[in-house]
Amino acid sequence: MYYNEHMETASRDELERIQLERLQATVRRMYDNVGFYRRRMEEQGVVPEDIKTLSDITKLPFMSKIDLRDNYPFGTFAVQKTEIVRLHASSGTTGKPIVAGYTRHDLEMWSDCVARGLSAVGVTADDIVQVAYGYGLFTGGMGVHYGIERLGATVLPISAGNTKKQIMMMQDLGTTVLACTPSYALVLGEAIRDMGIDPETIKLRVGVFGAEPWTEGIRKEIEALLHIKAYDIYGLTESVGPGVAMECKEACDGLHIWEDCFIPEIVDPDTGEPLPDGQIGELVITTINKEGMPTVRFRTHDLTYIHKEPCVCGRTHRRLHRLMGRTDDMLIIRGVNVFPSQVESAIVGIEGIAPRYLLVVDRVHNLDTLEVQVELLPTLVYDEVRKMEALRAKVQKSIEQVLGLSVSVRLMPPNSIERAEGKSKHIKDNRKLD
Ligand SMILES: [Zn+2]
Repeated sequence: MYYNEHMETASRDELERIQLERLQATVRRMYDNVGFYRRRMEEQGVVPEDIKTLSDITKLPFMSKIDLRDNYPFGTFAVQKTEIVRLHASSGTTGKPIVAGYTRHDLEMWSDCVARGLSAVGVTADDIVQVAYGYGLFTGGMGVHYGIERLGATVLPISAGNTKKQIMMMQDLGTTVLACTPSYALVLGEAIRDMGIDPETIKLRVGVFGAEPWTEGIRKEIEALLHIKAYDIYGLTESVGPGVAMECKEACDGLHIWEDCFIPEIVDPDTGEPLPDGQIGELVITTINKEGMPTVRFRTHDLTYIHKEPCVCGRTHRRLHRLMGRTDDMLIIRGVNVFPSQVESAIVGIEGIAPRYLLVVDRVHNLDTLEVQVELLPTLVYDEVRKMEALRAKVQKSIEQVLGLSVSVRLMPPNSIERAEGKSKHIKDNRKLD
């Protein structure tokens, strides 16, 4: 079901016409009002008049989290402070947070994006939505909240935490939709199970989960625990907040990014060069319908690709594949970009193999080598060496096909690969030791 059918199904020509017009206005606004970005454009020898087509976007300088920090708190605002009606801030675990400012127009645009996303997964005015995202400086709670009201559904602004109360309210009020982080959805699901409550006595039917990376495996776990359909929502404070992109229930494969408000690009994380649709790289987002704090070519450090095919749901806005990790995880091996998530996708579903792996990179005679260690499932019983070798060869072939790179594969005993937390848990790069 569409929230704004005309815009969500607009022809590509019409969308691109809107995008160009709004991109030109955004660049003009940045050049005139944001000192740091004007200086950066001057350094790059580009003026607003140079943006004649959409592909001219590549002439513009990138923006990063560091730029927003360096200009803390209001140095990237593009309007007078009197026009700002709300501030949010990122968590800022190291140093100063990033402050985001919104005009009344920005809040309306944001609510509209969230309402479109909710509608795309079948939420209607009949639903009661329990928002268990944190409220406050974090954009999660309030961002989703106003989108729910915009759609006309009923919002229960319970915020995060107090799991027993969450479950009591869910039962007593007949909550039908849950919005929170996927990890909190798991906590709620496990608590419901441990309390011996039959999930069928709870009316929940849909979950809207985001604000942290999650996998298809976690999706299945949440769906089984809560007896719901779980959907992915994407957003970031620097672009607006949650609702930049959302899955649709028809395809449930890739998140429609609302292209009348945001221009997505995929670039090589190393060189910044644009990559074609279908190729994995770093997501770069330009906000084109924002007044308070527009961000032009913002480097998200999130890895994904843009689906090439149009969606079965009829929406013409392109889809981002669900996030595949962070650029910090990228390896360059013999000039080829390799992401741990690619290896994961290659080994998932091979019989006898656990989804645990370690990439060991080395340099032998000035040549990079990649060994992939994968773990056998405890249930696998092969006593014959020949069968084990056949399995190893199968894993190797599958990984080589996905990476386009020759690798060696080592099968490891069950539970032998360390389950360390953290970003680089799948990588051991011995080249850095030289
Ligand atoms: Zn769709």
